Amino acid sequence: MEDCIFCQIVAGDIPSRTVYEDEHAFAFLDVNPLAPGHTLVIPKSHHETLGELPDEGSAALAAAVHEVAPAVEAAMDADATTVACNNGEAAGQEVPHVHYHVVPRYEGDGYGPIHALFDGPTDVSDDELDDIADDIGAALD
Ligand code: 5GP
Ligand code: ZN
Repeated sequence: MEDCIFCQIVAGDIPSRTVYEDEHAFAFLDVNPLAPGHTLVIPKSHHETLGELPDEGSAALAAAVHEVAPAVEAAMDADATTVACNNGEAAGQEVPHVHYHVVPRYEGDGYGPIHALFDGPTDVSDDELDDIADDIGAALD
């Protein structure tokens, strides 16, 4: 897509610090890193959200994350990584080309888990949980 920043990075029209590339996936350093080594992993094809990604791109993206996350940890001497996807605008996605953030994490860095984004567990009854599980299962059929 011509006006997509990440498509332009894949095409080489916008420079990036590329760390990984294969037929369907691409990874490069985030220009505004949350921590040194913050890396973005993307499919080469333009799709806005995970659900819109075709099987081929989805598999390649997962495999690339699988390769890149341990490499980021090793290179940055990190204890762990937070791997996260803002999957849609309402979830905070700003660049409408699906991507995973891989952010190095350290014991005691104080940033907490992804759960820290939320106020805490929401009260959902067992019956509601049953219904929700059924609904999601049905949506997957
Ligand atoms: P989002 O909020 O969409 O999940 O994250 C988009 C990320 O892309 C942000 O962390 C931002 O710093 C990064 N980003 C935006 N434009 C560029 C760019 O031109 N080059 C690189 N390397 N990263 C970018
Ligand atoms: Zn794109």
